[in-house]
Amino acid sequence: MYDYGECHVCGQRMEEKHVKQDFWVKGKLIVIEEVPAGVCPQCGEKVVKADVGRSIAALVGNSKRLRKARTMNVPVIRFAREVA
Ligand SMILES: [Zn+2]
Repeated sequence: MYDYGECHVCGQRMEEKHVKQDFWVKGKLIVIEEVPAGVCPQCGEKVVKADVGRSIAALVGNSKRLRKARTMNVPVIRFAREVA
């Protein structure tokens, strides 16, 4: 198992997890599932290995793959200060 070391934010030991990660690419939101990443159990900071980062860049740049990908609807709301 890859050692992600300690969280650069809070110093907690990072744990390897598979996460869902969202990316904005040319104004489009792309979600990649099952990304291997180091996740801080304390503050939630995430890091990926350099080769994983390269694979992500290749995936989001693969327009053929994106066309075939399934999509999901997400709620979009405008910011407002809610009165509790
Ligand atoms: Zn942390």
